[in-house]
Amino acid sequence: MHPSSVMRAASLEEAVEVLAERGPSAGVVAGGTDLAVRRRRGLPVPEVWVDISSISGPARDIVRSQDRVVIGALATFRAIAASDLVRRTLPALYQAANIMGSVQIRNRATLGGNIGNASPAGDSLPPLIAGDATAHLLSSRGRRDIPVEDLFTGPGQTCLAPDELVEAVSYPVLEGAWSGFRRVATRASHDISKMSAALRATLEQGRLAAVRVALGAVAPVPLRVPDVEAMIDGRVFNGALLDAVGLAASRAARAITDVRSTAGYRADMCGEVVVELLESFIRDRRDPSGRAGLQQRRA
Ligand SMILES: Cc1cc2nc3c(=O)[nH]c(=O)nc-3n(C[C@H](O)[C@H](O)[C@H](O)COP(=O)(O)OP(=O)(O)OC[C@H]3O[C@@H](n4cnc5c(N)ncnc54)[C@H](O)[C@@H]3O)c2cc1C
Repeated sequence: MHPSSVMRAASLEEAVEVLAERGPSAGVVAGGTDLAVRRRRGLPVPEVWVDISSISGPARDIVRSQDRVVIGALATFRAIAASDLVRRTLPALYQAANIMGSVQIRNRATLGGNIGNASPAGDSLPPLIAGDATAHLLSSRGRRDIPVEDLFTGPGQTCLAPDELVEAVSYPVLEGAWSGFRRVATRASHDISKMSAALRATLEQGRLAAVRVALGAVAPVPLRVPDVEAMIDGRVFNGALLDAVGLAASRAARAITDVRSTAGYRADMCGEVVVELLESFIRDRRDPSGRAGLQQRRA
């Protein structure tokens, strides 16, 4: 299916007015990297494309606002991958932005589009969930906020109303927090994750705290795993903890077998990757100058 018309919006406010007028047959296009693929494959795309790609200003900005970092929905992955603010405050998102797609894709692909596309394998989603991020939504009826972890209802589906879009995403700056992202994929670029994970934590008097763990591509939606978090929170890091966490993370997966991987492999990788992230955290804390290492594992 091809769009029957494309309307260029001068602002997000104008875009949501058009969405409200045109009803469910209309949809926004930002970088177009997902929508172009859908169109090429003959999959359903909106009849009316409301093009928000040329909107400038706050919709593209990445700024600190008091104790939060706010990222406009039109911020590209290239901008996020180059942001020192994101690198310092949510390294997991910075790492995901640096390995997603290819340079050409990162130049166009937006954070809002990654959320709107709602793929369980969307690489920004585990980092945002692990970072306690909130999505700021806009419609012609006003604004509302939803935790990113509550946005997704199924593969390709969100709880956004047809006339609603993501205006921005923000996350709290947690002093002293570490975060990391890993994904398992066959190739370094032009590939979709077989599974991915993000972990955020702090270390307080030798004990792990403020723990968040999120998994991608192992369930119909990106998944926060409170059971695994509860096992880590308040504990001292040691080998026994790693074994238990690995097992729990594997069990948390609700993976399916598809063209990219098998359910069993994905579940195994959940355990391995979450353990790797915990080990990286402890290594970085012991040697703050050290690097966390590769964010992607070939498989
Ligand atoms: C070759 C290739 C490689 C890729 N590699 C990766 C990868 O490694 N990791 C990964 O995660 N993704 C990857 N992708 C997928 C894609 O690039 C991302 O999902 C990207 O972030 C989509 O952003 P966009 O601006 O291009 O979205 P668009 O294609 O413009 O839109 C995608 C969907 O989101 C909706 N949307 C757009 N903006 C908003 C908004 N502000 N609010 C609400 N809904 C909105 C649209 O209506 C549409 O349904 C890849 C794609 C290609 C073609």
